[in-house]
Amino acid sequence: MSVVALVPAAGQGERLGAGVPKALVPVYGTPLLVHAVRGLLSAGLVHHVVVAAPTGHADRMRELLTGFGTAVHVVHGGRERSDSVRIALDAAVARVADARVVLVHDAARAFTPASVIRSVIAAVEAGANAVVPVLPVADTVKEVDAAGQVVGTLERSTLRVAQTPQGFHVDLLRRAHSLPGAASTDDAGLVERLGEPVSTVPGHPHAMKITTPIDLVIAEALFTEVRQ
Ligand code: C5P
Repeated sequence: MSVVALVPAAGQGERLGAGVPKALVPVYGTPLLVHAVRGLLSAGLVHHVVVAAPTGHADRMRELLTGFGTAVHVVHGGRERSDSVRIALDAAVARVADARVVLVHDAARAFTPASVIRSVIAAVEAGANAVVPVLPVADTVKEVDAAGQVVGTLERSTLRVAQTPQGFHVDLLRRAHSLPGAASTDDAGLVERLGEPVSTVPGHPHAMKITTPIDLVIAEALFTEVRQ
C-alpha cells in the first residue's frame, strides 16, 4: 500500500510579492518547492509525490525536480487551490493503483520536520481517516463584523491552527473533493462538511506557512538553524 503526497504549488503567491510563483522563490538558493518535496521524500515513508504547477511553470518545475526521479510527477494545477488538489489527486489515483494514504502538503510549508510527516502518516495507517497537524493559538482571537467592530472573543483554549501535511484515506479525500462546490483552503474542512471525524496530531513551528516577506526572512533563519 503506497503513500502519495500531493503538493499544491499552483498559486501565484502574490502576498509574497516576489514576482514569481511562491513555490519557485528560493531560500538559500533552492526553491521552496524543492525543499518541500525533499522534506516529504526524506521522511522515508512517502512513495510518490504529485505536484500541481502554475500555468506556464510546469516544465520549469519538472526540471527542478528531475533529481528525485520517477517518484515525482508534475501536473498542471487549477484555478483555485482545491481545483489543484483535485487534479493532483486524480493523477495520483491514475498512476498509483495501490495508493491508500494521501497527504496534501503546501509547498509553502517547505521546512516541515520529518517527525510531523511521519506522525500524520502513522495516524492514518492506524485507522484515522483524516488527520491534521495543529498548534495551539498564542494570540487571543476576536471575531469582528464588516465594520471592524468586535462581536466576540473566541475561547482560546479550544482553538488550534491547522498545518500541513494533512493526511487522508484516499477514498475519503476523493469523496470530500467530489462534494458540489468543494472549494476550500483546507482539505480537512471538506471532510468536516461530510460529517466525518478529523483527528489531530501535534504540529511544529517549523511547519509555518511562508506567505509574506517577513516569513521568508524567518525561513532563511530557520534553514540555517536546521542545517547547523
Ligand atoms: O495562496 P496560499 O498560500 O493560501 O496557497 C496555499 C497553497 O495552495 C500554495 O502552496 C499554493 O501554491 C497552492 N495553490 C494551488 N493552486 C491554486 C492556488 C493555490 O496549488 N490555484
